[in-house]
Amino acid sequence: MKGIVLFIGPPGAGKGSLAHMCVKQLGWVQLSTGNLCRKHIIEQTKIGKEIDFAIKSGNLVSDVLITSMVEEWLLQEYGKQPVVILDGFPRTAEQAKLLNNLVETKFKDLSVQVVTLDIPDTILVDRLSSRIICQNKDCQAVYSLSEGSLLRPAQDMVCDFCGSALGRRKDDEYEAVKERLTVYRRHEHGLLAFYKASNKSCIQLNVAQPITEVFKEFQEMIGLNTI
Ligand code: AMP
Repeated sequence: MKGIVLFIGPPGAGKGSLAHMCVKQLGWVQLSTGNLCRKHIIEQTKIGKEIDFAIKSGNLVSDVLITSMVEEWLLQEYGKQPVVILDGFPRTAEQAKLLNNLVETKFKDLSVQVVTLDIPDTILVDRLSSRIICQNKDCQAVYSLSEGSLLRPAQDMVCDFCGSALGRRKDDEYEAVKERLTVYRRHEHGLLAFYKASNKSCIQLNVAQPITEVFKEFQEMIGLNTI
């Protein structure tokens, strides 16, 4: 398999966790636009200062700015690994159009596979209220404090991968979560309509199940052997 895989789904659907499994087990490479934005904020770059308020309040960064960040990353990473996952991009029909133009002009040999992650909002609110992430800007691994979750850290509030402290995201507070879900659903229809109208390959994943099952189903759907 070769190309760009787009993970499209609401906040809390598990895009990052699924992408992480693809990176670890399939050797793919991942760009999370959310992680990239948070890294800019922590490093207090010019972009970070510009987007800080939008992120904390659960709103979107401008289409042009986020697409230019993706373009810059793709130009650096392009060709290093056969499959690139874009996790959390595109999020609007306008971003999808900009990405299309980018692929047609600069990454002509890359196919685009669209993967939508389906899950009801009630489950998302629960998931986000127990989500914690690694505070190391270069790690940002995702965990859950839910009883019995497969994503619980081995040691309380410590990252399994890099040993940094875990903490809550500001935009996982209830008010920001409500805003993020509203914003996501507002753009969802136009975004999916864009891909339906194009001839891109689209698959739908049920992500209201444990992450290991999601990963298994995903591999089957894209034709990878899961034995
Ligand atoms: P995430 O980690 O994917 O939930 O993203 C966190 C925040 O980063 C979002 O609420 C937006 O403010 C910003 N962000 C991430 N990806 C995008 C995108 N594709 N378009 C606009 N804003 C984005």
